[in-house]
Amino acid sequence: MPHWILAAAANSDSNPFQSVLDFFQSPTWHFITLMFYFLLVVLWIACAYWVFKDARRRVDDKIILAVCVLTGIVFGPLGLIVYTIVRPPELLAERREQELEMQMMEQRLGEESRCSFCKTPVRDDYLVCPTCGRRLRTTCASCGKPIEPSWRVCPYCETDVHGALPPVSAYDRA
Ligand SMILES: [Zn+2]
Ligand SMILES: [Zn+2]
Repeated sequence: MPHWILAAAANSDSNPFQSVLDFFQSPTWHFITLMFYFLLVVLWIACAYWVFKDARRRVDDKIILAVCVLTGIVFGPLGLIVYTIVRPPELLAERREQELEMQMMEQRLGEESRCSFCKTPVRDDYLVCPTCGRRLRTTCASCGKPIEPSWRVCPYCETDVHGALPPVSAYDRA
């Protein structure tokens, strides 16, 4: 039996509140309060650390990040609750991925080929512009597929198309 209970029993005759007073002066009570403060400090540090870890993944700005961490350190669990309410909803990695996707989409739109004369969007396999009739591509003499003016070899049949279109390719003759 802890000694404060024994003490309480011994002193119960003289003062009914003595046992209570004794308890609050006992080492047990000291230990309980110490543990309570210790747990509070641990909880505080854990909250601040969690806010720091989470904010680092969501906040790009160093000043805002510092404010978040300070909120966690100063207000502990309360700061954590406030932080979770006002924190940015998406992670930095997610945001970067979205931005990259947007960039790629814009690039694809920019790369869409257009008629050099009337700027009508044209498909890769058009031979002439459907709007102004300007010639966009020639055809391969060997396989008849559309060919870009800059190409040296037909990618479909390996025919050499550099310069004037030869009726029979050098590869075919070899
Ligand atoms: Zn055109
Ligand atoms: Zn060809």
